[in-house]
Amino acid sequence: MNYHVVIVGAGPGGCVLAKELAREGIPVTIYEKGSFSQLGHDWSDLVEIEPLAAAGFEIPELEGNRWVGTLVKKETEDEGLFEPHAIPRLKLYSPDYQAVKEIKTGMITTDRRKLGQELVEQARQAGAQIYYHREGMQLLYREKGNSLEDLEVYGVTVKDGEKGECREVHADLVVESSGYYSILRKSLPAHLDLARHFPNSEFAMVHREVRLRDREKAKNDPLPDHYRYGYHSGYQWSHVHTPGKIDIGAGVRYAFNQPDPRDIIEEYISRHPSIMAYRVRGGRSPCIVGKPLDNFVAPGFLVLGDAASTSIPTTGCGTGSALMAGLWASRVIAEAAREGRNDLGKLWDFNRKFYRDGSRGAHLAALSAVRPMLQSLNHDSLNHLYRIGLLEGGELEKSINGEFMAPPLLQKLPSIFRGLSRPYLLRTMGRVLSLAGQIYRHYSRYPAEWEAGSFSQWKTEAEKLFSRVYD
Ligand SMILES: Cc1cc2nc3c(=O)[nH]c(=O)nc-3n(C[C@H](O)[C@H](O)[C@H](O)COP(=O)(O)OP(=O)(O)OC[C@H]3O[C@@H](n4cnc5c(N)ncnc54)[C@H](O)[C@@H]3O)c2cc1C
Repeated sequence: MNYHVVIVGAGPGGCVLAKELAREGIPVTIYEKGSFSQLGHDWSDLVEIEPLAAAGFEIPELEGNRWVGTLVKKETEDEGLFEPHAIPRLKLYSPDYQAVKEIKTGMITTDRRKLGQELVEQARQAGAQIYYHREGMQLLYREKGNSLEDLEVYGVTVKDGEKGECREVHADLVVESSGYYSILRKSLPAHLDLARHFPNSEFAMVHREVRLRDREKAKNDPLPDHYRYGYHSGYQWSHVHTPGKIDIGAGVRYAFNQPDPRDIIEEYISRHPSIMAYRVRGGRSPCIVGKPLDNFVAPGFLVLGDAASTSIPTTGCGTGSALMAGLWASRVIAEAAREGRNDLGKLWDFNRKFYRDGSRGAHLAALSAVRPMLQSLNHDSLNHLYRIGLLEGGELEKSINGEFMAPPLLQKLPSIFRGLSRPYLLRTMGRVLSLAGQIYRHYSRYPAEWEAGSFSQWKTEAEKLFSRVYD
């Protein structure tokens, strides 16, 4: 086929897209700035099961709290994609540990380096070309006017990391899947929303480690899988992988006055003699937790995954969204390629799929309004909300699994009366949840087709709603 797609960044979203396009016989090339051995993170991520299944992974069977299947790691080995210990139900603690809720998770713990390598291998086997140590530097585009439809992206400048040389690569469609730095879309004219810089307030700093555990000491040191939600504006987490290995993590708001998440982990370890000093793997990095872009496409260009800020704002989990975006994009691009098109009207279908058909985007937009409110509450307020039942299992379960749910008022009346000692808290919660509900409904009515006037109207209303988040 005489239609060439270039994907910059071999993250989960880009790889799944490349695999699907290659299967359709569409020529596709991935440029990845790192090497094969560095793909993914060197720790384990909790990834949504549904997108993994949609991307073609065989999901193991659940037997009690263990996963059983060919892709599951053996207890004594590190080979395999999924960690053996399952957490079908997760304990959510208040910051002071005094209140606990149990929630269902639709997630599976995944060796993120193996997932990254597996996805890129699948793309390569399907026929995608992959070049490592090649960094996308900036988009090549022409502008006939100021509007989005006047733009035409026709390629990307790629730097060869080994030779230090840059060259222009021309393509019918460039896809940015390069994570939250998203330098390509930021090379577009600044007046376009697509070029938006994510502010520090839309990031968290996360530290994760897998440590060995002393089996003898473990007998007197029980460690429930848990999430201490809201702790220091983020979370603290522990999850037993096998009797001899444990996954621990912490994340906080990305700001100068926050504790180092590594110190949070160290403090947790100091309380648990069974956790050993030996680190199997681990690391730290910022993590995007903000509002998704309002539009992911321009003529000849599409952006997905963290580069478009589509992680779950209340947890930072973004692998599932990146996989789903890769799959949705593959359907839109395959059709565009068959019709020989790369115009805005055609690529707009991707926005529609993300915000309307899949409704994932509407949930993420609403949760991105709830996150700053949750992060602004101190431990005392959060403990109180857990205790009186205003932070309830149902909504917490939804938010951790990436869905927004406004609590039905009648159901909440008893908690509201119990909470009357802190009316300002109830007012804040009520205001933000109602606003998030309006945002959810607004994004569910995302313009189904590209039309400059109706998109501009929709966007003005979206901006008005978000401007009230920080009131
Ligand atoms: C500490 C931490 C913990 C996390 N835990 C979880 C979790 O438990 N569950 C979960 O679902 N998510 C988690 N996430 C988020 C998750 O990792 C991301 O949401 C997900 O990886 C996004 O996928 P992506 O396809 O957008 O791109 P990425 O995975 O970010 O991949 C981007 C790729 O592009 C490459 N690249 C970057 N710039 C360029 C360039 N200019 N040219 C060429 N290549 C480039 C990078 O090397 C990388 O390989 C965590 C993130 C962090 C930082």
